[in-house]
Amino acid sequence: MQVLKFGGTSVGSVQNLKQVREIIDTPELKIVVLSAMAGTTNKLLQIADAVRIGERTLAADLAIQLQKEYDQVLEELFTELSILSKVRGYVDGIFSSIENSIQVTNFSTITVDEILSKGELLSTWILTSYLEQENVSVCLLPALDFMRIDMHKEPDTFYIQQNIYRSIENLPPAHIYITQGFICRDYEGKVSNLQRGGSDYTATIIGAVIKATSVQIWTDIDGFHNNDPRFVEETHSIAHLSYDEAAELAYFGAKILHPLTVEPLRQYKIPLHLKNTLDVKARGTMITHKAKGKGIKAIAAKDGITALKIKSARMLQAHGFLSNVFKIFDSYETAIDMITTSEIAVSLTIDNTQNLEKIANELTKFALLSIDRAQSIICLVGNQISADKSTHHLFNILKDVDIRMISYGGSKNNISLLVATKDKNRALSLLQEYVFPHEIVI
Ligand code: ADP
Ligand code: ASP
Ligand code: MG
Repeated sequence: MQVLKFGGTSVGSVQNLKQVREIIDTPELKIVVLSAMAGTTNKLLQIADAVRIGERTLAADLAIQLQKEYDQVLEELFTELSILSKVRGYVDGIFSSIENSIQVTNFSTITVDEILSKGELLSTWILTSYLEQENVSVCLLPALDFMRIDMHKEPDTFYIQQNIYRSIENLPPAHIYITQGFICRDYEGKVSNLQRGGSDYTATIIGAVIKATSVQIWTDIDGFHNNDPRFVEETHSIAHLSYDEAAELAYFGAKILHPLTVEPLRQYKIPLHLKNTLDVKARGTMITHKAKGKGIKAIAAKDGITALKIKSARMLQAHGFLSNVFKIFDSYETAIDMITTSEIAVSLTIDNTQNLEKIANELTKFALLSIDRAQSIICLVGNQISADKSTHHLFNILKDVDIRMISYGGSKNNISLLVATKDKNRALSLLQEYVFPHEIVI
């Protein structure tokens, strides 16, 4: 069985929904995972934010506006009146439950998650109904019946495996099962989600539990590019990446994949193919367990980084200093991304600043501390980077951009640089020029 996931743009218009039908309407048995239509989750978040700050009228207005957009899609997509009225009934029901959430008196994160879940419920209902109208063998597979996370917010694989099969057995037979990405239940059964962009992760979790032959992620670009196309010109699609390379790039900000996407696939070596819904013939990117080729393959950047410089008050040869520093971060469950040291100081970066004040209080008991916010990590990823001839080009940018930290040699596959976020786009473009000067488009 195959798993195919379609992102927000892929299901974001009537034209693209029809294109999705072209791609999935083949005889093979498959599970199709959908995101919400492009823009919907952001709008639902705006509604939830308005409710949180007590702006209920604004929230209700935003919901009415969004409902109008859906009405228009339904008008265009459904020609058969009986199906149109059934889908309209469902969509109206979803918007009344949003309205109920807007009016709740005890607002909490549960309300936010309830509101956010509606986008995927809408898109899957709409596509399933459209395929029914077109006499395609299809059935809706509700994700909330099987997708669950545990107390640590990890996928509860055993539960998911048991319940996905149980759900399918209880449904009428079909060639295509359509399910919601992103949404799930928590260990108490409350509606939750896999974090923004989480539909990619849903697809690979399902792929792993059903031991799919492959997982395809269909998006709005022709695969993984060698730099962030939102900020850099002339980026190119990469034919192949290993799980490690893709995971590192996704973790360090490549928006094309949710950071945890490849993890479920590792154990079973299930290939992940990134494809373009808007250009079906484009080759895309194949991601497998094996690394191919050498050298730097791609660059990504992650914003929202805070850098801490921690200087030992006792100066030289103060043993135990680093271990004391690490213990503090550990006790506040704060992960460190980058680290560089000298004899008397250590610089490190974090992205979770929830406990920063408490960490700073502890550190200043035995060290001098300076904190820089609004930093970005730029990450260069590839295979056997340190041994590759092109790597030295990287240092050419040092003269043009103020690099706050550099991490080289920690692994053969990664070089990380820390720059102020205001310098990030310039650094990315310069790196593109230096590292991929004669890019050959295959
Ligand atoms: P979807 O809604 O299909 O999940 P996303 O918007 O989450 O799509 O991801 C696709 C987008 O990721 C692209 O349109 C592109 O702007 C952005 N992106 C960022 N970095 C990269 C990269 N290295 N390669 C390809 N796309 C990237
Ligand atoms: N709709 C969700 C989001 O916008 C999940 C996803 O698109 O993958 O984050
Ligand atoms: Mg995405």
